[in-house]
Amino acid sequence: MKKQFAVIGLGRFGGSICKSLSEQGMEVLAIDTDEEKVNNFSTIVTHAVVADGTDENALKSLGVRNFDHVIVAIGDNIQASILTTLILEEFGVSHITVKAQNDYHEKVLNKIGAHKVVHPERDMGIRIAHNIVSKNVLDY
Ligand code: ATP
Repeated sequence: MKKQFAVIGLGRFGGSICKSLSEQGMEVLAIDTDEEKVNNFSTIVTHAVVADGTDENALKSLGVRNFDHVIVAIGDNIQASILTTLILEEFGVSHITVKAQNDYHEKVLNKIGAHKVVHPERDMGIRIAHNIVSKNVLDY
């Protein structure tokens, strides 16, 4: 059976996760409060819906608790990111990945049960620096 993913927040990060998962043949439910963003993803993912990640009843009615993996990609609104993560943890979702804005945000997310916390800009900076160094080592 295909794995089911839900992505909450369709900015650059959440959007590229949606595209990549869909290209890999996964079932993806894309959620955002912004109707225009949702419309942009309607032809890319399995389902795209306008909903608020902090609205427990909305997530319940979408069946989010049954998804294999939920990615919280809400950016600037740290409060919404934390509340959404808390709801998912209370649902008992088995894999919750969350994008953090800063170290304090990361600390809170870990405390409330996020399984993986990512900082895309920081993580990519580290990866690129490692690539540059290993390339230079090979060049000598
Ligand atoms: P990126 O760097 O990935 O582009 P960002 O860090 O700039 O994102 P935002 O643009 O603030 O982040 O948020 C990402 C998306 O999350 C936006 O499309 C926004 O509409 C959506 N979003 C914000 N709050 C909620 C919420 N409560 N529920 C669902 N989606 C939300």
